[in-house]
Amino acid sequence: MVALVTGASRGIGRACALKLAEVGYDVAVNYNSNEAKAAEVVAEIEKLGRKAAAFKADTADLKAVQGMFREIQKEFGQFDVLVNNAGVVDDAFLLMINEDSLSRSLDINIKGYFHCAQQAALKMIKKGGKIINISSVSSILAVEGQGVYSATKGAVNSMTATLAKELAPRGITVNAVAPGFIETEMIDAIPEDKKEAYIKQIPMGHFGTARDVAEVVASLCSPAFDYVTGQVVVLDGGLSL
Ligand code: NAP
Repeated sequence: MVALVTGASRGIGRACALKLAEVGYDVAVNYNSNEAKAAEVVAEIEKLGRKAAAFKADTADLKAVQGMFREIQKEFGQFDVLVNNAGVVDDAFLLMINEDSLSRSLDINIKGYFHCAQQAALKMIKKGGKIINISSVSSILAVEGQGVYSATKGAVNSMTATLAKELAPRGITVNAVAPGFIETEMIDAIPEDKKEAYIKQIPMGHFGTARDVAEVVASLCSPAFDYVTGQVVVLDGGLSL
C-alpha cells in the first residue's frame, strides 16, 4: 500500500507520514522548500522498514503536482492513499489583508487540495482508495484574524462532501480531519500570552500534538472506516463545543 502525504517535511504531515509507515504503508513524502527535513523523514520511514522517497512540488502548481504523481508512479508502481495536508496560515484582520498573501492562501489551501485530489483520483479510479483532507477547527469556529484561513478550510469541508459523493461509486472515500490548536511550527508564531488565552478556552486544557492528528488519519485509512465517507472529524480537545 502506498500513501502520499503533502507537506510532510514538518509538523502534522511529518507525523502522518511516520504513522502511516508504522501501520504498513510505503510513503511518498512531499515538500515545498525544506529538502533536508524531507530527507530526514524519508530516513526515519526507512528505519521503520518501509519504502519512502521525497518529492519536491509546490501543490499550488498543477504542472508540478502532475510531475510529482508521474514520479510516484515510477517509484512505487501503485497509489492507495492521499493525505492532503500542505497548508499555510497568514493571519490578518480584514482591513489588513494583503493581496499576495490572500492569493497564496487560496492557491495552496484550496487549489493545491484540488490538484492533488484530482491526480490521486485518476490513479485510484479503477481500484478505489482513500483521500484524507486536513481541514481545521477554524472552518467551523470564528477566530478573529483568520478570515482567509477559515474560508479556505470551509472550502476543504465542502469539497470533502462533494468529492465523497462523486467518487463513492468508484470505491474512493474522502474524509476530512479538523484539528484545533496543534503544537507545530504553524502555531509557534503565536505570542505566549495569546497561547495561554487560547489554552484557557480548550476544555481539555492543552494543545494537541501532531501525533494526535496522525492517529486519527491512520484510523480513517484503516478498513474500520471503509463505509465512512464525506465526514469531517473534529479533533480539538473540545474547543469548538
Ligand atoms: P507547518 O508545521 O507549517 O508545516 C507545513 C508543511 O506544509 C511543511 O511541510 C511545508 O513544506 C508544507 N507546505 C507549505 N506550503 C506548501 C506548498 N505550496 N507545497 C507543498 N508543501 C507545502 O504546518 P502544520 O501545522 O503541520 O499544518 C499542516 C496542516 O494542518 C495545514 O493544512 C494546516 O492548515 C492544518 N492545521 C494545522 C493546525 C495547527 O494548529 N498546527 C491546526 C489545524 C489545521 P516545507 O517544509 O518544504 O516548507
